[in-house]
Amino acid sequence: MNADRELLVATGVRKIYRTGSVAVTALDDLDLAVRPGEMVGVMGPSGSGKTTLLNCLSGLDDIDAGRVEIEGRDLFAMSDAVRTEHRARTMGFVFQAFNLIPVFSAVENVELPLLLVGTRPHEARSRALAMLDRVGLGHRVGHRPSEMSGGEQQRVTIARALVGRPAVVWADEPTGNLDTTMAGQVMDLLCALNRDEGQTIVLVTHDSAIGARVPRLIRMRDGRLVGDVRQNVPGGAEAAADLSRG
Ligand code: ADP
Ligand code: MG
Repeated sequence: MNADRELLVATGVRKIYRTGSVAVTALDDLDLAVRPGEMVGVMGPSGSGKTTLLNCLSGLDDIDAGRVEIEGRDLFAMSDAVRTEHRARTMGFVFQAFNLIPVFSAVENVELPLLLVGTRPHEARSRALAMLDRVGLGHRVGHRPSEMSGGEQQRVTIARALVGRPAVVWADEPTGNLDTTMAGQVMDLLCALNRDEGQTIVLVTHDSAIGARVPRLIRMRDGRLVGDVRQNVPGGAEAAADLSRG
């Protein structure tokens, strides 16, 4: 593995949840490397550790063993404060629940992460407006979340995740709350951002139709990586056939 070329390198990552006398090994000696510009799908059955992988590799949650490096920096060697700051500057997040601030308009939601890292208000506003335009919501900038469809709300969260030009965007079941049409539109957008702008994206899904659309698909079972394939996209037929063989 050529560490210089990797954006993210996880080695021997272990995560154990302890609840009373029960211990669940959610990540078991996991290795993963992601290059700049990759779009990586993470699939696996419910409980296989997909969300844990995302939370641990992004440093949202602690690990029990191993090492995670982003752009050559050891995530867990940082203090909590430094890690939080590092996350705000290098990572964007998109979750199944849109997690927008209900009393804020679309543009206020999108500019917030920029304001939090000290971007001047005028610049934050203009970048948020440009990003909303990029996700096809130039006509909705003043709407509150409750005044938008689920697909529109998720495109606002994607704009919010990308506005700071993060090194990596983590998405956990981003289409999980959307109907098929809206899910397709959100995937179109994520794929375009990866293809056209080289945005690195790690996307967790349990939906094989979504998994068929990503250039690289890794599969998890019981906290371990059990597959890692590069697929021909668009089309995804090859991948779909592969998945149906299970
Ligand atoms: P997935 O996202 O693939 O459905 P998760 O990463 O959420 O899987 O969970 C992996 C395993 O860890 C499961 O067995 C789950 O029950 C367990 N788990 C997840 N979060 C917690 C937690 N906060 N406390 C205890 N066990 C957890
Ligand atoms: Mg999950």
